[in-house]
Amino acid sequence: MPITPFHFGPGAVIHVLAPRHVSFLAFCAANVLIDIEPLYYMLAHQERLHRFFHTYVGASLVALATFALFLACRWFARLFWLPNPFQWQSLSLLAVAIGAAAGTCSHIVLDSVMHFDITPFAPFSDANPLFRVTSLPALHWFCLGSGAMALLILGVRRVAVSQNAR
Ligand SMILES: [Zn+2]
Repeated sequence: MPITPFHFGPGAVIHVLAPRHVSFLAFCAANVLIDIEPLYYMLAHQERLHRFFHTYVGASLVALATFALFLACRWFARLFWLPNPFQWQSLSLLAVAIGAAAGTCSHIVLDSVMHFDITPFAPFSDANPLFRVTSLPALHWFCLGSGAMALLILGVRRVAVSQNAR
């Protein structure tokens, strides 16, 4: 299924471990953008859903597009004095770039395990060495577990900060 939130779990952990260096917003946006491809082919009743943008070459372009989209949205939001929830307009450009790159790269890795029709190394090779390297339930539990781990780390950090403030 395109645009699955399972992909967000590993991103949450990466973000929580390096909150100032990896934007979770960019990570999620890149994951949503890249899955427009299978959504499009699904709606067009095509058999092969994962094509160019589900290769590392295509995914790099999606990361660049995510970065450009962030710049465009920030420019638009500042021009029209739009609200700034979670201070997203103040995100560092490096954090957005790393978040977008991590989002697309991890997406290809996870999809490579799951989908038979992905050729991550095209146009250089049609091989997909990660296909079913682990079971699908294990893959989903890994993603869910990553998300739970991120929440746990966040919780522990909050408690530590509030105890230090006393
Ligand atoms: Zn995908």
